[in-house]
Amino acid sequence: MFSLRRIIYAKAVYPNMWKIHGAGISGSYLFNRLKNEGIEVSISDPKISNFYIPCGFATNRKRIKPYLEKSGIDMEGIQTSSDERVTIEGNNFPPLVLDSTDICTIDKMMFEALLLQGIEPEKKTDVTGSDYHVDATGISRSLLPAPARDKRMFAIEKVCDRSPYDNFYFYFFPKGRGYFWSFPVGDHFHIGAGGIDLMEVRGSLSSFQGLRLLSRNIRMGPIMENIHYGNVVGIGESIGYISPLLGEGIIPGLESAEMLASSILKGNSFEEILMDYEKQVNVSLRKFQKLATLVENIQASKVMTMENIGALRLALSEAKNFGINIKLTKVLRHFL
Ligand SMILES: Cc1cc2nc3c(=O)[nH]c(=O)nc-3n(C[C@H](O)[C@H](O)[C@H](O)COP(=O)(O)OP(=O)(O)OC[C@H]3O[C@@H](n4cnc5c(N)ncnc54)[C@H](O)[C@@H]3O)c2cc1C
Repeated sequence: MFSLRRIIYAKAVYPNMWKIHGAGISGSYLFNRLKNEGIEVSISDPKISNFYIPCGFATNRKRIKPYLEKSGIDMEGIQTSSDERVTIEGNNFPPLVLDSTDICTIDKMMFEALLLQGIEPEKKTDVTGSDYHVDATGISRSLLPAPARDKRMFAIEKVCDRSPYDNFYFYFFPKGRGYFWSFPVGDHFHIGAGGIDLMEVRGSLSSFQGLRLLSRNIRMGPIMENIHYGNVVGIGESIGYISPLLGEGIIPGLESAEMLASSILKGNSFEEILMDYEKQVNVSLRKFQKLATLVENIQASKVMTMENIGALRLALSEAKNFGINIKLTKVLRHFL
């Protein structure tokens, strides 16, 4: 509950309304943070309530905690599975069973619903008027201008009631073309694949019988231009704020939303908010750019470049952040 004084204070410092478009992970989190601070905020999304947008639901238990704490949500209430082990395999290396660094799956849809605190998003995207708008529309990037270059991959996922792999399993396609995954999610499995070759992606999943089958593109490169445009500012996958190495977008989505929330809460003008936010997101966007270049170089068989060697350590720390504890020597053996 907010005190009347806090609402009056918020109204005086933040006279314009923030309208968030997109009730995925990043939009729902930002909505929660602003609403809890007494800032006037609305959220819209045309999807039908509880509509499942494909996602492996894998994340990192330790790294998600600060966002749960800020939004007052219990990990126990949303975690569906976790494991001490992760298995990775590739075209030229046999299965490696590695230690997990806190990988888990969550009920992402329940998390989003809890963040919205029972509020049903408006169905219509209204961008008229003098309000401030947030593009949290993910791959659609519906409000911000289309980028000159947009690196995407195909992704397909099946929700299955069984899997030949009982822990977290990754199979990497040759030459950095993408990967296949099987993740336990409670009593089900999210089995999917993402990659640049649609036939390869489809082929890797053909033997699995899914209770549901969904697909969408996934953005695999940051969009450095037009992070904001006019009175619109972007968060999450709409600006390519997603790790292009493994397609990890849940924690990055929360991170970018938290950065925008913190910039707004400094109580400055819209222009100052944008400058502060851009400064914060650019640090990770530059890191994502290095990783996207590494992936592109590997796809083009340009492996042993100085650029790649510098980016490899970054890639290993990115894998560890997601939950896979892999050593440099093992990676090199796979790609050489
Ligand atoms: C198959 C697949 C598996 C994945 N697995 C993982 C994983 O295991 N772990 C992980 O961390 N990441 C994973 N990702 C990535 C992750 O799901 C996304 O990066 C993350 O959910 C992006 O969050 P977001 O809030 O930016 O966008 P989204 O979650 O995509 O939300 C965007 C929302 O905007 C809405 N929208 C669209 N147009 C409009 C409009 N005009 N007006 C209003 N609303 C609109 C959509 O309906 C949607 O609800 C996966 C992605 C795919 C495709």
